[in-house]
Amino acid sequence: MKTGDLTLVKQINKSIVLNEIEKKGPISRAQISKDTGLNKTTVSTMVSELIEDKLVNELGQGQSSGGRKPVMLYFNTHAGYAIGIDLGVNYILAVLTDLSGEIVEEESVPLSDQSAEEIMQALRSLIRSLIEKSPDSPYGVVGIGIGAPGIVDPEGLILFTPYLDLNQVNLKQILEDEFNIPTLIDNEANTGALGEHLYGAGKNAMNLIYVSVGIGIGTGIIINGQLYKGATGISGEMGHLTIEVNGRKCSCGNRGCWELYASESALLTEAKKLEYFKDTSSITLDHIESEAKKGNKDVLRLLHTIGEYNGVGLVNIINTFNPDMLIIGNRMARFENWIMNPIKSVLDDRLSPFHGNAVNLTVSSLGKYSNALGASAFVISKFLDINRVKVI
Ligand SMILES: [Zn+2]
Repeated sequence: MKTGDLTLVKQINKSIVLNEIEKKGPISRAQISKDTGLNKTTVSTMVSELIEDKLVNELGQGQSSGGRKPVMLYFNTHAGYAIGIDLGVNYILAVLTDLSGEIVEEESVPLSDQSAEEIMQALRSLIRSLIEKSPDSPYGVVGIGIGAPGIVDPEGLILFTPYLDLNQVNLKQILEDEFNIPTLIDNEANTGALGEHLYGAGKNAMNLIYVSVGIGIGTGIIINGQLYKGATGISGEMGHLTIEVNGRKCSCGNRGCWELYASESALLTEAKKLEYFKDTSSITLDHIESEAKKGNKDVLRLLHTIGEYNGVGLVNIINTFNPDMLIIGNRMARFENWIMNPIKSVLDDRLSPFHGNAVNLTVSSLGKYSNALGASAFVISKFLDINRVKVI
């Protein structure tokens, strides 16, 4: 920091005060001063500005041990709203949240084909509808976040997505031109990891790996409470870890990739080979789940094998990152009852005793919302960062 750069000092102080109110509100000015070490005059000035900005509200009077009761301050979670979108391979789920990530509205549509036209049309109509439904607020819709399956560069250009007709499409640019609202696109495993870290199963985990097991497998990596995205933003492609040296050929060019054995596609491919499903033209996860519930032995055996393959990949992840939490998310999470035991026994067999039970293994607690909520959190944090600077 440059000496005498008063604007920056002021920004930092404002940022500290807003952060304090967001995390600890309702809180008094005196308490903020005590907790942050900022003097009372500075806190008062910053609070007045934040009230003027409509980001902070006063809430009657709090408790006091004597004398005048202090006025309590809280973060105005309704100062604006954000749209979070889970762009799936065969559906789109969109939520409208307030600034604390609370879902206010949600809408979803199935995708019957994966053409760019159908996807763009569905996206536009979902976004338009949620904007119309957003309650009146000082800042309106502050951002649109999208978690997409595939490799997304930091500029929001979808470099490669094997299942949607959106390769090389600059979704960010297209949507910003149309709606004039800041838009962020990221890989769905990153948004899912952020969603679970901020609002779900990973709230208290500083080092967590979110494993999105859907049509493919991707991972979102949170290290020391921060999303790790690699040098060019495309880290976490662990679905392509080799788990069979001479295994099946993968579209990525490798052989024996993890996702060919442990993903939703692997489950569906293997289910097709079962005698029970030989007359079923298109098997869905619903079919598989309902047969598992009925105790269909072939289906149970298949889920057990898929669980073991999931475990084998997770062993590599645990050995690499030594995380305190592993969260299995996306569509495989619904098979928790059948895949968790085989996963755990593989971890027991294959991990060194040093890892012991150090890793907390669980499925996503936000269920189908991990990705959409993480996408909305991305744009909320971007919006708030404009009103405060990150304090390093
Ligand atoms: Zn591969």
